[in-house]
Amino acid sequence: MHYRSSLALLLLGLVGCTSNEPPAPVNMSTPPFTPAVTTVTKTDAEWRAQLTPEQYHVLREAGTERPNGKAYEEFKHQGSGSYVCGGCGAELFSSAHKFDSHCGWPSFYDPANATNVRTREDRAFGVTRTEVLCARCGGHLGHVFKGEGFNTPTDQRYCINGVSLKFVPKEAGKNAP
Ligand SMILES: [Zn+2]
Repeated sequence: MHYRSSLALLLLGLVGCTSNEPPAPVNMSTPPFTPAVTTVTKTDAEWRAQLTPEQYHVLREAGTERPNGKAYEEFKHQGSGSYVCGGCGAELFSSAHKFDSHCGWPSFYDPANATNVRTREDRAFGVTRTEVLCARCGGHLGHVFKGEGFNTPTDQRYCINGVSLKFVPKEAGKNAP
């Protein structure tokens, strides 16, 4: 019971953000995701060895990190740079497209490299959403919502799990942490 109600709360958080009305599902007529597109393929054991348990749960099991978690706190304070896939290193998002949606998860209004980002319809939990995946390794990143009224150039919210991303500062090689 407790698990179920937590899940429901988490899901609501991922769906509705600024209004009481659920956002309209994104219809971008993207071709359905097929694993054949991925160029990075690893066995389940290899992914488990490479990723932290939380990264594995999100990237390989389509899990959702809790809102306002450690990764999100770090995200809020990161400067200019790129966000690459935590699984395979493909460039996915740019700090230039970050915005604060007050949702508790990293939000972008556009992918930096659209060819590395795939979407597909997700009907889990009886709700139709658009799942966002890394095109190179097939890792689950989050969901994208459209038409929520955010004052951004696209009015899209790529709601991404922080643990699925790795931040690469612009000045990497100089003062990289
Ligand atoms: Zn990837």
